[in-house]
Amino acid sequence: MDNIIFKIKDSVDIYVHEPNVLTIYYMNSRRRKTFRVNQCMIDLLECIDGESTTEDIITRLKTTLGLNEEEIQNTLKLLVEYRIITEKSSENILSDYDLQRYARQINYFSEFLRDEKCAQEAQKRLMESHIAILGCGAIGGNMAIQLVMSGVQQLTILDYDVVSASDIARHMYFDNYSIGMQKTELLKSKLEAIDSRVRIRTINKVFRPEDDLTEILHNIDFVINSLDEPYIGYTSSKISRFCVKHRIPHYIAGGFDAHLASTGELIIPYMSPCVECYASHFKTSLANWKPKKHPVIERSKEIGGLPSMSLFSSSFGVMEIIKYITRLVDLNKEYKVRGEWTFTDMNLQYLKVEKDPECLICGANNET
Ligand SMILES: [Zn+2]
Repeated sequence: MDNIIFKIKDSVDIYVHEPNVLTIYYMNSRRRKTFRVNQCMIDLLECIDGESTTEDIITRLKTTLGLNEEEIQNTLKLLVEYRIITEKSSENILSDYDLQRYARQINYFSEFLRDEKCAQEAQKRLMESHIAILGCGAIGGNMAIQLVMSGVQQLTILDYDVVSASDIARHMYFDNYSIGMQKTELLKSKLEAIDSRVRIRTINKVFRPEDDLTEILHNIDFVINSLDEPYIGYTSSKISRFCVKHRIPHYIAGGFDAHLASTGELIIPYMSPCVECYASHFKTSLANWKPKKHPVIERSKEIGGLPSMSLFSSSFGVMEIIKYITRLVDLNKEYKVRGEWTFTDMNLQYLKVEKDPECLICGANNET
């Protein structure tokens, strides 16, 4: 690797403490690593200026410090492995426009990946994903906005509803002029205003039990279910069964009639718990719970909440989805189950749900 040009990663800060203690501060993930090093390592790091080739560095350090080539090459490999330095890309995967548009995001990705080229590839994966959002309410609609802001360019959005006054309080993109307009069409025009390259397919209809998901989810890479009508439990069960069978990753978001600041859950077929695993978890954990008749018959059908709660849930979901699509972390170990955020103490607690090995949908015996 004689002609490679390395640079210290943009998202890395390096501190030297006496005597010869080096601390690497990974700014995006807030991690720190501390190493005891000799002066040669410090000199080597100073040579990695984003302009000198490996050959230049070897020649310089051989002369000044008397190091041999193998030692220098091994140290450089180690610095790459620890994601302290990265190869300076000579050829870009993305256009100059997209590199500029998504500069901060690509910088963020690069901390979790080997080098800048991998970060650009991650951005490309996001830009090439076709995501379906079923239900364009406060959660689904705000997820669509954030996904397109992040670079997703192909969406299928489904909703039957028109905008009412109460929607304005919970959507980032509705205003007084939106009342009475079709939610999907208004969302589509907003998404096109964010990025004129987006391709949005709108389906303006009520989701019904007999609907053929094969047609709705044709060529879809990822599905978000935010359909709380006729009932989120029902729509999630139908959609999750279909997606598990066809190995389509999906996210259950919205329709949170029990708690508006729920995080929802990422479902990776045959890896994380599916909707049926959640159902059997609740069946067991709530086995002894018996509903008591409420003395007040007329209760509000609307659950209370703040606009920020829908934005919290939609942002949380989008971050999990981006993490999954870009493969930033090993989700075999890191995926999250549903979490519940509470207002008073600002705490986030995760349910103790596990994948049910006997699950009739995603259990080992049913894997297709
Ligand atoms: Zn399951």
